[in-house]
Amino acid sequence: MPRPARLPGDDRQCPRCKSHFRAEEIRRNQFVCAACDHHFPIGARERLDNMADGGVWTEIGGELRATDPLRFVDLQPYPDRLRSAEAKGNTEAIVCAELALDGQRCVAAVMDFGFLGGSMGSVVGERFAKAADHAVARGIPLISITSSGGARMQEGVLALMQMAKTIVSLDELHDAGLPFIVVLTHPTTGGVWASFASLGDVTYAEPGALIAFSGPRVIEQTTREKLPEDFGLSERQLVHGHVDAVVDRRQLAARLGRLLAILEQPPREAPQSLATQLAQNGTERAASMARALPQLSRRLRDRVMGEQSQTRRPGDRW
Ligand SMILES: [Zn+2]
Repeated sequence: MPRPARLPGDDRQCPRCKSHFRAEEIRRNQFVCAACDHHFPIGARERLDNMADGGVWTEIGGELRATDPLRFVDLQPYPDRLRSAEAKGNTEAIVCAELALDGQRCVAAVMDFGFLGGSMGSVVGERFAKAADHAVARGIPLISITSSGGARMQEGVLALMQMAKTIVSLDELHDAGLPFIVVLTHPTTGGVWASFASLGDVTYAEPGALIAFSGPRVIEQTTREKLPEDFGLSERQLVHGHVDAVVDRRQLAARLGRLLAILEQPPREAPQSLATQLAQNGTERAASMARALPQLSRRLRDRVMGEQSQTRRPGDRW
């Protein structure tokens, strides 16, 4: 299965079926190929617009910006990389917001692969933690849509620390009795998959998404073994129980809305006796039978035992 690819210009060609689409056509179809259902990459802001169904969403932690505490330089200085990534429209690789999904309030933490490969640095971790804190303060669920190449190497150990930070913030969400729902999209790898992305109470994945700690190329180079064609893809992760369902992007908002509605139902009261439940359902006759059942069964047992004891001879086995 070909991997999704971002294509330049107004005309996009589907890498799987080679159909051509105008940018507007593909945007209207939520960046999914109308001919073969191939899922193109999609930005965090477009996703939030789709989730809110045209409604407003209020950004959380949008003011946070990365610094360069390690003064890191590879082929170019880290601040220069940040500036050219910001020029594409986002200020970081995650956008968090409160919104109404199908009429239900929730917090969404949506990653954007277009910003330095969706890598998790200090700001991604801090924005995610702020989003979880906000969900706890408001008593509403947290949904995260992930897409990441892993920890941001330009921030070194500070990036790795975000794995622990995001996990701790989810512990607080869990202690507050609030659900965490994850939607894994192409690609979810490295430190993000190894931290909050794999901790969903319910985990969905988009079709054909790579979900793995290391990508197949890295593993093949290290082990010198050929991996299966579908290694790490969401359909394979479904078979192996790592995800609960593979969901088409065009059905995702409705699916999440249904899930939120189910999770929002108040907890059931302590289990009632069968007799009480039947009485509440208006089946009084059945209720009286249920009340009589233990007595009846005792009488029946006494009778059977009595008959057996009458016919029982020494040496007979029960
Ligand atoms: Zn196609």
